[in-house]
Amino acid sequence: MSDDQHITAPLRLFNSLTRTIEPFAPIEDGHARIYSCGPTVYNYAHLGNLRAYVFTDTLRRTLLWKGLSVTHIINITDVGHLTSDADAGDDKMEAAARASAQSIWDIAAHYTQAFKQNIADLNILSPSEWTVATDYVPQMIEFAQKIAPTHCYELDSGLYFDSSSVPAYGALAGGRDDAAHARIDPVAGKRNASDFAIWRKSPPGEQRQMEWDSPWGKGAPGWHLECSVMSLARLGHPFDIHTGGIDHREIHHPNEIAQNQAYCGCTDAEPGFTGARWWMHNNFLVDRSGKMSKSKGGFTTLFSLIDAGVHPLAYRLLCLGAHYRSELEFSAEGVAAALTRLKRLVMGVEGLKARAEGVTWQSPRLDYLRANLHPKLVPLLEQFDAAIADDLMTPRALPLLEEAIAIKKIPVDEKLCLIAAFDAALGLNLMTLGRADLRLQPKDAVITPDAIEAELERRAAARADKDFALSDEIRDALIAQGVDVMDGDPLRWDWRLTLAQGS
Ligand code: AMP
Ligand code: ZN
Repeated sequence: MSDDQHITAPLRLFNSLTRTIEPFAPIEDGHARIYSCGPTVYNYAHLGNLRAYVFTDTLRRTLLWKGLSVTHIINITDVGHLTSDADAGDDKMEAAARASAQSIWDIAAHYTQAFKQNIADLNILSPSEWTVATDYVPQMIEFAQKIAPTHCYELDSGLYFDSSSVPAYGALAGGRDDAAHARIDPVAGKRNASDFAIWRKSPPGEQRQMEWDSPWGKGAPGWHLECSVMSLARLGHPFDIHTGGIDHREIHHPNEIAQNQAYCGCTDAEPGFTGARWWMHNNFLVDRSGKMSKSKGGFTTLFSLIDAGVHPLAYRLLCLGAHYRSELEFSAEGVAAALTRLKRLVMGVEGLKARAEGVTWQSPRLDYLRANLHPKLVPLLEQFDAAIADDLMTPRALPLLEEAIAIKKIPVDEKLCLIAAFDAALGLNLMTLGRADLRLQPKDAVITPDAIEAELERRAAARADKDFALSDEIRDALIAQGVDVMDGDPLRWDWRLTLAQGS
């Protein structure tokens, strides 16, 4: 058995602030604090949005694997996110409410619930707390009042942050990106293209569904303000890691950082102060037409994948198969391959469990594993640890899981112990999923799994009687109903429902 040093690879994470991989140490011993920008709940999350939360969950599980406790906040943006990334255009929530003739609060409640369902379906650990933007408006006003005299100016349309009032504005984005800001609809009177709204006044004579009184008149908070305020309120500044999709590295997070610097007033004393030590970003999920986005419409949701008969954890596995900082292309073929890979994993673990009756392998602890693991499994544990500690290299960790399932001449309980530990980091729910759970019935299927099984039994009987005409007839009837009969399938899956095109 190797000593601990070999098994415990130091955790290293990519920090977007420095664009380098750095050794990670939490501010507070043994405890990490993470804030993840949450969804804007004017529509269903698309699969790209969900990639962002598979990434944060992998980060959180890796910190847990490393023995840290984690406080994780995800916010719900139910006000303030405009249809453009800046200060012109509609509030996305108000626009959705108008389009559907529903109350904005009902819209927010509906899509928040749908998002939480997605999180549960993907086996993403619930955050320690969901913070809802509209619950924090008084704190946002207080925050804005504190920074307004030295960092803001007022226009007819609202209170604006002067981005030239903080040093090195936009450093996270790699410098002042005037081109990105120039693409944003201009607001008359703004001093710099990169200035942004802290408070948006309701236009005269217009009543918004969501508006609050403030020292600058009735209105609503700016989107960037929300995250500064909620992270400060729940985690304190500085906390350890702030996450989001890579689009946030360009505008939303630089604006948060500018506000955080202004609020703490410590930019001179501590020039590196940004509010969080690490800023981490996942790359995009793209499809053939480019970055998946809600505003483009026609996006693919997890619900549509489930309706097509794909188990949601196949999508999680698809995400883990790529490193979080690489673009990932979404396609029906890719998701079908991930589903097959998941089936193999589930089938392998199910086989081991069947042989290990009475053995408990749940909640394995790394210290127990280190002390007790079969010597042949130790290299796998070490390599797995090194992979996830290397900026969450899940594509390198997955084959090690597959190896642990396949490795021969090891007591089954030892293997299961290791697999359960790996799965605690990967979140594929392998210790409880069974093959039957993976068979989801597509929404438009005309035949139920029970009816398919009954037909396949009738067919097996026909073949046993050498009645091949009847056997073929049954198979053809199944094919006509969208059922692929897979004679001799190495996975012994026997049948599958044809995936809907484009799903
Ligand atoms: P939103 O609901 O638009 O505020 O986005 C929620 C999260 O999804 C944010 O962290 C975004 O940066 C992230 N995101 C948006 N589009 C994509 C995409 N196509 N791929 C990966 N992440 C995305
Ligand atoms: Zn945010």
